[in-house]
Amino acid sequence: MPQLLDTELRQAVEDAAAHLYVWSLKDIPQDLRDALAAAAERETSEPGRRVLSTILRNVEVADDAENLVCQDTGIAVYTCRVGEHFPLHPARIYEALREGTARATLEHPLRSNAVHTLTRENTGPNVGHRLPIVHWEFVDGWDGLDVKCVPKGSGSESMSFLKMCTPAEGVKGIKQFVLESVVGAGGRPCPPGIVGVGIGGSADYAMYLAKEAIARPIGTRNPDPHVAALEDELFGLLNETGIGPMGLGGDVTVLNCHVEHADTHMTLNPVAVNYQCWAARRATAHVAADGGVEFDREA
Ligand code: SF4
Repeated sequence: MPQLLDTELRQAVEDAAAHLYVWSLKDIPQDLRDALAAAAERETSEPGRRVLSTILRNVEVADDAENLVCQDTGIAVYTCRVGEHFPLHPARIYEALREGTARATLEHPLRSNAVHTLTRENTGPNVGHRLPIVHWEFVDGWDGLDVKCVPKGSGSESMSFLKMCTPAEGVKGIKQFVLESVVGAGGRPCPPGIVGVGIGGSADYAMYLAKEAIARPIGTRNPDPHVAALEDELFGLLNETGIGPMGLGGDVTVLNCHVEHADTHMTLNPVAVNYQCWAARRATAHVAADGGVEFDREA
């Protein structure tokens, strides 16, 4: 197969990004639909049941009308896994994601949320200085590109917390901080959603890990058995808080709890919490070196 020109491959990535942003906002993954339906089954409080039934109806209406599941189009966040042999430089990939985000916003059209942090003036169609946000991973010996889009609503993103625990506080300190954070957040992050926890690394990396945790399919478990046991324990504890759907009280406060970890300095014990609301939107595009694109709602 002849080598694609940079411009053609760049265009394929831009088109993929434009589609991903809109699609992720409209068509939520099956694991999320299943988790919401299971939550509605197990919720026993009357207000909680009403909230969950309204959420399920909201998803149905969005499907029927091919419209957004929530008005908040969020901040566009992408994670790119770039193969060592993918024939487009990351600088061009970033350009393509930025253009794709702007095009999706103008063409759909979507609400544009991007503002200058100090002046609060709109900076463009969901783009601006360092927007969209792109995280990078590089994969040895591969020639593909995976782009995952996780638009993050402000209600849940505002419920992000970081604590530099001491090593002496240990796992107990981590659990206590996660519980305090979720209880303090109450109904504000539109529960029930996914609680992402990042532990270890440094302050910034712990928060990055918490964001990575919320982007996993619901209920998946960390391959490290110690971390997976912590996920199970936190999931149980968080649902004993009684906060319930939208904070109105009930059995289902979270759909799950995911934890990602990194090794850390011997005198550090960072823990970050990032809440993802019930509208836990995510969608992925697999881009091949020849410009072929496959979309994947479940990754
Ligand atoms: S937190 Fe989520 S569900 Fe709530 S308004 Fe924002 S995007 Fe919508």
